[in-house]
Amino acid sequence: MTDFADMLDGYRRFRNTGWTEQRERWSELAEGQSPTVMVIACSDSRVDPAQIFDTSPGEVFVVRNVAALVPPFETTPGHHGVSAALEFAVQVLKVNEIVVMGHGKCGGCKAALSQELKDAPPGEGGFIANWIDMLDEARANVVARFGDGSSHEAHRAMEREGVKVSLANLRTFPCIRSKERSGELKLIGSLFAIADGQLHLLDESTGQFHPASLGDD
Ligand SMILES: [Zn+2]
Repeated sequence: MTDFADMLDGYRRFRNTGWTEQRERWSELAEGQSPTVMVIACSDSRVDPAQIFDTSPGEVFVVRNVAALVPPFETTPGHHGVSAALEFAVQVLKVNEIVVMGHGKCGGCKAALSQELKDAPPGEGGFIANWIDMLDEARANVVARFGDGSSHEAHRAMEREGVKVSLANLRTFPCIRSKERSGELKLIGSLFAIADGQLHLLDESTGQFHPASLGDD
């Protein structure tokens, strides 16, 4: 297990190797960032987009939160962290693509399905419950299809539905909707299966997820 002291060892390795090797790149990056892709992923420690997509610093603008969710466009007062990041990515950085990456064995999706935190007070699960209630409608559909929702199939379906909810909510943002319509912005749904390391891509015309090609098939 890694604690912060181990992470400082990692920092030293990074400074002695990674950073030195890419020193020129870092001095370019000090001038500013111009990523063309935004990724919305789960905070889960197993699904780091930079690692899965093998990207370098400066290449992807990332937001991670519980269950890789995008809330709908809302103008109610509040601290809208995801919306602020979206606004910056779309309007200032002008990214060309937004990738939502859900994942297998997602605890947030599991809690949405089980409703185990439903009446928990803030600080004891209530914040999570309030966040994942964005999945309530999708959950009802999953439960209608898979019974009580405790099966493996129900969990996988909930994870896939979560990606679709985020994509639908992305399209409630006027700037995203208009840029998608004009072809300036593309939305991509994906799901990373931890057990076999496979990335699945959503075909929105069928609603099905298919494994991404590994280039050798
Ligand atoms: Zn997760």
